[in-house]
Amino acid sequence: MGDFKNYIKHVAQPMRPYMPGEDLEAQGISVWDGDVPEEGGMIAVNPKNEDDKWYVAKAFFEENYVADFLGDDASDSLGVCDSGDCNRDAVIELSDVRTLCQKHYERWLGEEGKDER
Ligand SMILES: [Zn+2]
Repeated sequence: MGDFKNYIKHVAQPMRPYMPGEDLEAQGISVWDGDVPEEGGMIAVNPKNEDDKWYVAKAFFEENYVADFLGDDASDSLGVCDSGDCNRDAVIELSDVRTLCQKHYERWLGEEGKDER
């Protein structure tokens, strides 16, 4: 039998930041009853139906999403890895809070994987 390895489910979800104070109901954006929109939350849109929008809670966003810069020019402007004193080119930005090079990103994925059931 082969060993289990980590695979990333790659499904792009277009999102923009929630702006504190904006009226989501007036824009037809669904908010789950248990959520109170806050800074750091995101507004997601169905790429196949622009009218289908919903609020994504900050904690859920940070836990489940990473920015997708594959094939995006933005990858050129990520700067350097912010893990320790590593100065390699960053390849990925995680929830706007850190940028990592390929090596540290893979290490981060491995550490995250250990926490999973
Ligand atoms: Zn690094």
